[in-house]
Amino acid sequence: MQSMESLNQKIIHCTLCRLAQSRAHAVPGSGNIENPLVIFVGEGPGRNEDLHGKPFVGAGGKLLDELLLNAGLERGRVYITNIVKCRPPKNRKPKPDEVEICTSNYLEYQIEILKPTLICTLGATALEYFTGEKKMGPNHGKILNARKSGIPVLATYHPASVFRNRSLRDLLQSDLKMIPKIIGRTQTVAETSS
Ligand code: URA
Repeated sequence: MQSMESLNQKIIHCTLCRLAQSRAHAVPGSGNIENPLVIFVGEGPGRNEDLHGKPFVGAGGKLLDELLLNAGLERGRVYITNIVKCRPPKNRKPKPDEVEICTSNYLEYQIEILKPTLICTLGATALEYFTGEKKMGPNHGKILNARKSGIPVLATYHPASVFRNRSLRDLLQSDLKMIPKIIGRTQTVAETSS
């Protein structure tokens, strides 16, 4: 199996799709690569992430840090990445071929290397990629199964959606607060069945 370091190098130098032409930096992901029980997957880098080469470092990232801390999960204990690793121009939604190329070459291998107990999807793009579900309202706070890997997926809102609709903050926070319990439960099931 390839190492995270060699996968990151491929991502940084990737030219497999058109997003490479307009990016400043590709954004592989950041956080705990030893044993992250949970990985968070957003849509794609925004302007700040493109400038710094790190995921969720803008206003949405600050909010995510705060809500993670309230849930007892600091960023250093988890891994954070995106469906596509390069910023789509003007922050448009990634196109289906960009999602396919980036996930089949990178995200699925990141998951294989990290072996998380739980994947937490931030927003509709990640939810749809992993589960085929398109609507966040009826699915947030639910545990679904990831196609391909079969790993449990907790669906929740994208932090940026809170800036458009303040009432989503409480929903996002309560979904994130479910994570420590879910991880504990999944681990116990895995331990007893092994
Ligand atoms: N939005 C995302 O989906 N990902 C980031 O890394 C930043 C903003």
